[in-house]
Amino acid sequence: MKELADLHLHSTNSDGIYTPRELADQAKAAGITVLSLTDHDTLKGLPEMDIAARETGIAFIPGVEFSTRWENRQVHIIGYGIDEHNALLLERLADVRNARRNRLEKIVKRLHELGMDVDVPVPAEGQRAVGRPHIARALVAQGYVRTVQEAFDKYIGEGKPAYRPQTKMTPPEAVMLIHQAGGLAVQAHPEEIGDRALALKLLGALAYDGIEVYHPSAKEIETEGFWLNIATERKLLITGGSDFHGNPGRFPESLTEWPVQREKLQDFLRRFGL
Ligand code: AMP
Ligand code: FE
Ligand code: FE
Ligand code: ZN
Repeated sequence: MKELADLHLHSTNSDGIYTPRELADQAKAAGITVLSLTDHDTLKGLPEMDIAARETGIAFIPGVEFSTRWENRQVHIIGYGIDEHNALLLERLADVRNARRNRLEKIVKRLHELGMDVDVPVPAEGQRAVGRPHIARALVAQGYVRTVQEAFDKYIGEGKPAYRPQTKMTPPEAVMLIHQAGGLAVQAHPEEIGDRALALKLLGALAYDGIEVYHPSAKEIETEGFWLNIATERKLLITGGSDFHGNPGRFPESLTEWPVQREKLQDFLRRFGL
């Protein structure tokens, strides 16, 4: 049986619904032999995942997914192998989490104005990153919508009535932060930027180390092939993962649904001695 990898996972430390330990157990059962935890804008889950991965016999690469904006588009950038104690990185991530909290309050206020008396339980700071999925789940739990997807489609997705943009972090800053913390900077799910020309411009302008080629947003073979070509042409490392959050109604719904063959990521993994 081919060994599998998953280098893109979210836990309860950002907007996923499973703890790092639960993810490690699910990964083990799915045949995954190397994983990374890539929570949005926080390093909080990394120590727990490090231990859980070790206990389940899975290789572990620490990660973090930065939410940046450029030309009014959301651009996610993943840092792999960052120093978890890097002071500048920790400071800027804390700023971003604060901005996330303020934005969450604004979105909730807007939902109240729209007549939804939704109450979003916000965990104490404790370095957890809050996000729109927390609001979406509260809207589901309180019966205003049936699914997380419906919450995004009707109210909190980009351009919808309760949408508010997020953070002032830029792609150049994220790449700089990752590099000064000793990590590799990877353009996450380039197709999700929603503008290939912009994605290519960023890839040409910034000192990325890699591209996330294998991702549910590139499940069409044409899309995957497009980004695979770009990575090869530009001599960028190739990564991949499920971007699993655990949300029902959002692909992938389980860790087994988006398998990535470990051997496809071998150049990247070699950089971590794997
Ligand atoms: P935020 O970081 O607060 O802007 O929220 C973005 C997160 O919401 C993403 O990382 C996904 O987890 C989730 N998300 C974005 N769009 C959708 C969607 N259409 N349906 C469900 N979840 C989504
Ligand atoms: Fe997310
Ligand atoms: Fe992302
Ligand atoms: Zn993600």
